Amino acid sequence: MSLDEYRKKRNFSKTSEPKGEDAKDVSIFVVQRHRARNLHYDFRLSIDGVLKSWAVPKEPPVSAGVKRLAVETEEHPVSYASFEGEIPEGEYGAGKVEIWDSGSYNLESRKDEKIVFTLKGRKMRGKYVLLRFGKAGRRNWLLFKT
Ligand code: MN
Repeated sequence: MSLDEYRKKRNFSKTSEPKGEDAKDVSIFVVQRHRARNLHYDFRLSIDGVLKSWAVPKEPPVSAGVKRLAVETEEHPVSYASFEGEIPEGEYGAGKVEIWDSGSYNLESRKDEKIVFTLKGRKMRGKYVLLRFGKAGRRNWLLFKT
């Protein structure tokens, strides 16, 4: 969708209606600290109406210079972003889930091998990259801040 027609009809020096942001994808992200059999952090970005998800075995980077393995996992519904609680013993992913960080983000670019985005969380803020690497099903990515 384009805002061209909307803008063409209005003189924004005369009307106080919003001019509108440039057509960037403003979306949400969440990091859920998941005390399953192995403690990990589930990093999720809303893309295409779902939460694309990666399991990060160590605490995600909050400053540049730290690269973390991020293993792609199954997509989750967007409503999962507010989930916190205890997954019962015997169920998939059993253990405690807490929101470690969340906020909005802007998608800067997206290719099969590389996603660049700007996070606006409490801990994770600034420009980040997810970079796909390796073979073995190609589920392995690196997550880092630039
Ligand atoms: Mn998990």
